[in-house]
Amino acid sequence: MPYAVRLHDERSAFLSLEALVWRDGPVCPHCEERSRIGRLSGLSSSIGTWKCYACRKPFTVRHGTIFQNSHVPLHVWLQGLYLLMSSRQRLSSQKLGQILGISVRTAWHLKGKITAGMAASEEQAEPLPREARPPIEIRAPLPEATSPPQPGQAVYRARYERFLGALDNLASPCSDSAFLDALHRLLSRPSGSLPQSHSSTGEQQLQLSLFDEPEQPLERCQQNDARL
Ligand SMILES: [Zn+2]
Repeated sequence: MPYAVRLHDERSAFLSLEALVWRDGPVCPHCEERSRIGRLSGLSSSIGTWKCYACRKPFTVRHGTIFQNSHVPLHVWLQGLYLLMSSRQRLSSQKLGQILGISVRTAWHLKGKITAGMAASEEQAEPLPREARPPIEIRAPLPEATSPPQPGQAVYRARYERFLGALDNLASPCSDSAFLDALHRLLSRPSGSLPQSHSSTGEQQLQLSLFDEPEQPLERCQQNDARL
């Protein structure tokens, strides 16, 4: 495998998602240009930004996915997805927010978008082919701190350590597979076609327990295990 999925900071999350989405190299989502594009790496550019020199527009791999137009960093989305899949979507918004270091409200929105995206892709779900499954490296030691420290490094490290700590209780042997299948399904459908199933009137339903959904059957997990 030429690459592995890593979630420990924003840069690694972008590189992982780019490798999954753009298997044949980056593509401009505005005009489909493949060659006259370049990564913007200046200090004023946010991580993961590319520029198309055919249509002059910037873009990121988040374009057209449920991760687009969100102030939540990509690595937080992906860690959240991993936690939700490991808990079979039972982890409460309160607990998810604590682990990811985001507000309960933001965690609730993140969870709602993931749940709605998964439901919307249900009928057309094709499992990710085995040959397309990259290894996930989430328990590998964090890279040594660089000097001078990169922006956000302490926040990334603290969040990742909470994430790993939570996985001690939540993760199972099928977590990687469930995460990759979920990500594949979420990326297979444009965000514009997702149903708006979580309206603001549902805010009162925030739960303060560890799990706020009844336990889901293990079927999906077992199917994944059988396939591996
Ligand atoms: Zn373009």
